[in-house]
Amino acid sequence: MLNKLDKDEGVPKDINIKSVYIKTYGCQMNVYDSERMIELLKPHGFNCAASPENADLVILNTCHIREKASEKVHSELGRIALLKKDKRQKYDSEMIVVVGGCVGQAEGENIIARSPCVDIVVGPQSYHNLPELIERVKREKSWAVDLDFYENDKFDNLDFETIQNKHSAFLSIQEGCDKFCHFCVVPYTRGAEFSRAFSAIYREAIGLISRGCKEITLLGQNVSAYHGLDDQGNEMTIGKLIKLLAKIDGLQRIRYTTSHPNDMLDSDLLDAHANIDKLMPYIHLPVQSGSDRILQSMNRKHKRDFYFDLIEKFRAVRPDIAFSSDFIVGYPGEAEEDFDHTMDLVQQVNYAQAYSFKYSPRPGTPASALKNQVTDKDKDDRLQKLQKVLYQQQKTFNQSKIGTTLSVLLEKQGKYDGQLVGKSEYMQSVIVENPQFKIGDIVNVMIKSATQNSLHGEIINNIT
Ligand code: SF4
Repeated sequence: MLNKLDKDEGVPKDINIKSVYIKTYGCQMNVYDSERMIELLKPHGFNCAASPENADLVILNTCHIREKASEKVHSELGRIALLKKDKRQKYDSEMIVVVGGCVGQAEGENIIARSPCVDIVVGPQSYHNLPELIERVKREKSWAVDLDFYENDKFDNLDFETIQNKHSAFLSIQEGCDKFCHFCVVPYTRGAEFSRAFSAIYREAIGLISRGCKEITLLGQNVSAYHGLDDQGNEMTIGKLIKLLAKIDGLQRIRYTTSHPNDMLDSDLLDAHANIDKLMPYIHLPVQSGSDRILQSMNRKHKRDFYFDLIEKFRAVRPDIAFSSDFIVGYPGEAEEDFDHTMDLVQQVNYAQAYSFKYSPRPGTPASALKNQVTDKDKDDRLQKLQKVLYQQQKTFNQSKIGTTLSVLLEKQGKYDGQLVGKSEYMQSVIVENPQFKIGDIVNVMIKSATQNSLHGEIINNIT
């Protein structure tokens, strides 16, 4: 797990490391992991720095999903190398540079070869070893790479008790993925599906609630594939887990993300959406394409009709439920006819929100080796066409809430004095003017106006 090499760059002299700056790229799993890193490092004397200048420890928690992810990380490392040099020259003090996350996992020690300012590379399953790796790097004047998959070990070693008060928090219940969609690097960077035991999740949830948390988002690369063990050693489903967590007093909102359609046929999950008010009526359910031919080529292992059936099942038990999704346009081999099927699917489902991207190859994935790549022009045209419809649907959905009352968890100050911004049940940003309420309150808001990206309303009473 640890490689050693004498090198001039990156050998820290200063043992009194004090400030840590973390830059987080990508998904909520990375946000969650970055928060855990901060909590993990606090007992070792690290405080958060607002910028990398003069920080003693700089961590890039990277994501491999977007186009040119690796190039972006190395260009950031170029800037950090200058800061590191500056710190050494001006203050005779060292900066330790860490690359974590999925680019770290995918590239390993090649990162150090290309950007020698890097001292440590860790993967998403091994960052709990950071304090030990930092000590080793300092002690042995070496660099270190730890890309092992420790699964449970990681969670056992993270200190959840020190987490700050937060009204809305992520709770990781599952990691990794066995689906191997042909465009995706996650199964290679995050490893096989692994679910945490119920008792560990429950303990973490109780800890969050006791520190003022009201909303928990259950996280997993493939969260609906959750199959952790209950206290009797029986495998659970995400539906069963949600039902048990909903019994916790003080927990007022539950969300979960991200789901694969094939794992959603859980009768407990349907039942939870039908009967548990704490479970928010909003599901992020990526479909990627509306063409069966492309879905097959992507190795998604489901067809469009299956997706439609799922949507219907959830709408049948909870008519006000809303859906968001992910789309890839211009996947290799995608013809106009395939794209038309995607447009048709979008029209039929009618989304509240969606993320859409042009396909771009990820090194090492089966799709990157396909010869029939779509031209950039076709990708651009199709993305524009798709987003026009998706944005219109989002706007229409938001405007459909005008005149209704939404429950809103106030999360932050707005742009102007006395203004607060919160999240509705449907993840919409809701802006209210009312200084008598505070961040963390859940309030009823009468919606007065709406645009594509936000809603404005008036608080009509404080419900918690
Ligand atoms: S299910 Fe999601 S995480 Fe897993 S391979 Fe497919 S896109 Fe990647």
